[in-house]
Amino acid sequence: MAYEPLWSAAPEKLNKFEFVKLQKDGLDVIRTIIEKYALEGYSSIPADDLDLFKWAGVYQQKPREGHFMMRVRINTGIMTSDQARTLAEIARRYGRNLIDVTTRQAIQFHWLTVEHLPDIFKRLEAAGLYSFEACGDCPRTIVGNPLAGIDKDELFDTTGIVEQLNDFFMLNRDFSNLPRKFKISVSANKFNNAQAEINDLAFTPAVKVIDGALTQGFHLMVGGGLSAKPHLAQKLDVFVKPEEALKVAAGVVTLFRDYGYREKRHHARLKFLVADWGAEKFKAKLIEAVGELPSRGEDQTVGWQAAYFDGVHPQVQEGLSYVGLNVPVGRLNSDELEELAGLADQYGEGKLRTTMTQNMIISGVPDDKLEALLDAPVLQRLSPTAKNFISRTVACTGNEFCNLALVETKQRAVSVAAYLDEHIHLDEKLRIHFVGCPNACGQKQVADIGLQGTLIKTPEGMTDAFDIAIGGTLGCGDRGPAAEFTRPLKGRVKGDRVGPVLEQLISFYTEQRQEQE
Ligand code: SF4
Repeated sequence: MAYEPLWSAAPEKLNKFEFVKLQKDGLDVIRTIIEKYALEGYSSIPADDLDLFKWAGVYQQKPREGHFMMRVRINTGIMTSDQARTLAEIARRYGRNLIDVTTRQAIQFHWLTVEHLPDIFKRLEAAGLYSFEACGDCPRTIVGNPLAGIDKDELFDTTGIVEQLNDFFMLNRDFSNLPRKFKISVSANKFNNAQAEINDLAFTPAVKVIDGALTQGFHLMVGGGLSAKPHLAQKLDVFVKPEEALKVAAGVVTLFRDYGYREKRHHARLKFLVADWGAEKFKAKLIEAVGELPSRGEDQTVGWQAAYFDGVHPQVQEGLSYVGLNVPVGRLNSDELEELAGLADQYGEGKLRTTMTQNMIISGVPDDKLEALLDAPVLQRLSPTAKNFISRTVACTGNEFCNLALVETKQRAVSVAAYLDEHIHLDEKLRIHFVGCPNACGQKQVADIGLQGTLIKTPEGMTDAFDIAIGGTLGCGDRGPAAEFTRPLKGRVKGDRVGPVLEQLISFYTEQRQEQE
């Protein structure tokens, strides 16, 4: 039986969209798309239902004239080569060949029409893929260690746990009407490669002696999130055994569903509840919901490698390597994805892996096949040894497709990176993230240099510009430096001046930096 919402009794505490969600569960829109709108066309869709399309993983693209973007969940970033071929074929048939890798390891299509959605859902399902609840007020794509199962630096393989969580939450009507989106991260990698602190709920690696035995499991962080008001997740004083991860995740999401704020949408994420309650009260409520949990053990996170994997690296399996590729600003086309799928079959274990930095990995490559793989023509552009700046540049969708964007991002990011690669030779890699509005799909707050698009008045009229902020980083567990968001610099830079201004900024940094900085 569907969950009966507790909050429906207090209508004065609800924002307008809550009433839409009370009229119709977001998940019901999937059937309406298939049975009605795909047959009757875009003009037959009422505005309220268009807002609910997010539960199908579908957003209106800019301008709002009948084209859609779609996100497909790639849990922990791991897909088979056949799944990659399905994605490539969908983009080719319906999405003008465009494929974006998002900062939540998902795949994003553009240019879809409502008539095509049923066939796309069918093709995805046949491949074991889903767009459902990749967006919407529900638990979304679960991010994780893209190296799960092959990682020398993971405590244990978290693939099964991510699948278990995904199977439990996806299409679960008990959790399909949360106050806002809910983002989960699961990784046992020691270098925080699933960006724990910027998720609503994060499982991070830990050990604890329980009943005399050293037990591997997780520590928990709750209440992180970026958007316009970023919060770092807070650590809870609990230790979670792997077999209890689902119970605990369900408990946290239940607290959010029942106690999360629904009055103002911009104040509805879990981070606001956690900030008000504090970690101790949140822990007490969680224990009320799921039963006693052991207190924290020993944290196993020892650093942050920023979710970059480029180059050739040995796997935990002797004689096998993974090859991290740069996908410039996360964008590739159908032919390229198919070629990567072919390479994964020919030289690897038939898997591709997406990263939170919009890149891809081919895994399971035996030592004696590495050379041939690295010679593949498609790796000229999707290179494991891309130039310094392009290899560390991330960009959100921007005004090419996003209705909230003020400026173009992806092409701008590519041209700025090319400018910097031409003009600066640096002995380290600086992470530069572009976003097209005050939101944070491009994770501007955790970049070395974060650029947020805006518009400024000039004598020639309104023009693109960027605010610059610097010094973002995520944390290294209990033993290392803590996470910090970027700090803003004064002033704005016109869009066509970003390259030269960053050149000056980086030169200033290299002249002034201290040893080890
Ligand atoms: Fe759109 Fe803003 Fe998100 Fe970029 S950060 S994709 S412009 S909402």
